[in-house]
Amino acid sequence: MPQADPTDQRRLLDIAATDRAIAAADHRRNTLPELALIAAGTERTASLRVAKVNAETEVADLERDGRKLDLEIDQVRARADRDAERMAAGAGPAKDLSNLQHEIDTLARRQATLEDRSLELMELREKADAVLATATADFDAAAAEIAAAESRRDDQFADLDDELARLRATRAEQAGQVPDDLLALYERIRKTGKIAAAELRGAECQACRLELDSVALSQIRSAPADQVMRCTECGAILVRG
Ligand SMILES: [Zn+2]
Repeated sequence: MPQADPTDQRRLLDIAATDRAIAAADHRRNTLPELALIAAGTERTASLRVAKVNAETEVADLERDGRKLDLEIDQVRARADRDAERMAAGAGPAKDLSNLQHEIDTLARRQATLEDRSLELMELREKADAVLATATADFDAAAAEIAAAESRRDDQFADLDDELARLRATRAEQAGQVPDDLLALYERIRKTGKIAAAELRGAECQACRLELDSVALSQIRSAPADQVMRCTECGAILVRG
């Protein structure tokens, strides 16, 4: 066990307090509610993006079908108009005129079928447009939520980083006042993930909150003040009051 001036031993309590504050700020930084929001939102946005792309594809397909159909309707109409003109001219053998009339009737039926189909397509298109509008709005809303959460996250990161910078400066200053061997012991214990220094209050170690047994307690109490003592339960440097 190293020896250290009781004042220096007490300084370890300040360092431990700063280390706790740093750990707390780090923990807050890693567990900001915004981080979970952003992760969940990003996942949700991915599926909303798929829905939006699907809706866009559906609209594009219907648009293409509509254009094709319009073209076909135009062609049938043009042909029917031509036939009607020829019919009105009335020239040619009766058999030809009869064939012409037959074609005009066929074209009229075809046009009626195509126009029905065109109406159906228009209805489908209206529905697809509505689905796309909803999908786009949902996607945009989710993206805006993420952007807002990111902005809040960045604000809090900035605050916490300021706080951490301040705490680390304090920590460096405090560590600079403690003798190297004592600090080295403190750091060695801290690296194991434990509280490295705590006060002995009554029989209780303030690091592990356990009461020391009477043998350990009397050993610690009877040891010289500059003797660095450790908790027999958790290994923390025990600073006596
Ligand atoms: Zn302890």
